[in-house]
Amino acid sequence: MDNVIIITGASRGIGAATALLAAQAGYRICINYHADDAAAQRVLGQVRELGAEAITVRADVSVEDEVIQLFHRVDSELGRVGALVNNAGTIGQKSRIDEMSEFRLLKLMKTNVVGPMLCAKHALLRMSTRHGGGGGSIVNVSSVAARLGSPNEYVDYAASKGALDTFTLGLAKEVAGEGVRVNAVRPGYIYTDFHALSGDPDRVSKLEPSIPMGRGGQPAEVAEAIMWLVSDKASYSTGSFIDLGGGR
Ligand code: NAP
Repeated sequence: MDNVIIITGASRGIGAATALLAAQAGYRICINYHADDAAAQRVLGQVRELGAEAITVRADVSVEDEVIQLFHRVDSELGRVGALVNNAGTIGQKSRIDEMSEFRLLKLMKTNVVGPMLCAKHALLRMSTRHGGGGGSIVNVSSVAARLGSPNEYVDYAASKGALDTFTLGLAKEVAGEGVRVNAVRPGYIYTDFHALSGDPDRVSKLEPSIPMGRGGQPAEVAEAIMWLVSDKASYSTGSFIDLGGGR
């Protein structure tokens, strides 16, 4: 497998933690992000300090033209991609479905569902033996919300992750004979900036009593599972899910 990894949404949180582990494992890394140039540059500095070759690419994963540009940058600056982590995602303010606008629903589905599909498409055009590639591995970052539903908070987000899970299952079977494995992780409450988007930056610490293990998770704990699934150590695993929810 080619040792080039694209991690979407790698400027912060789980994606940034994954980039650090990928650097330690010797990958050449594309740090994708949406808007926060300074955060992406900080992660770039950290992975380079670990000795990794890396680039940052600003691109909205929900827009195919931008995804195409991202893959062209990787082709020319890092080489053929062998691993894709579909980590970029978003969430709206806590609300019920009767309060959600069409704009919110379309933006969320484009980012959380169409984005990973577009990135997988352009990765497969390079990885799949059907297209002359040398194989590869795709890991989708879903959520325990996919099986819990998130009532009264964000059923739209939970449904987007449910769609990502079904995409994982189907795509895994579609490309299993073409040298490409497709798996997913489902994190629970993880300490990142993500919760500010839903209107409560302190959400994880407030909800700790409801978590069977009694604590929220760290981005690095999710990154470990992502990088195991990406790696050849998971060589017989496809269409599978690792839940990292502290028992939820
Ligand atoms: P985060 O700290 O808010 O980071 C999100 C990252 O995604 C940032 O790098 C952001 O870029 C990027 N991003 C957002 N929209 C994008 C777009 N359209 N195109 C490209 N990049 C985009 O979030 P996180 O907590 O690490 O979440 C990462 C993934 O884990 C998400 O898919 C999320 O649904 C999932 N997850 C998180 C939790 C949790 O408790 N934190 C639980 C379950 C699942 P900028 O920095 O440029 O904005």
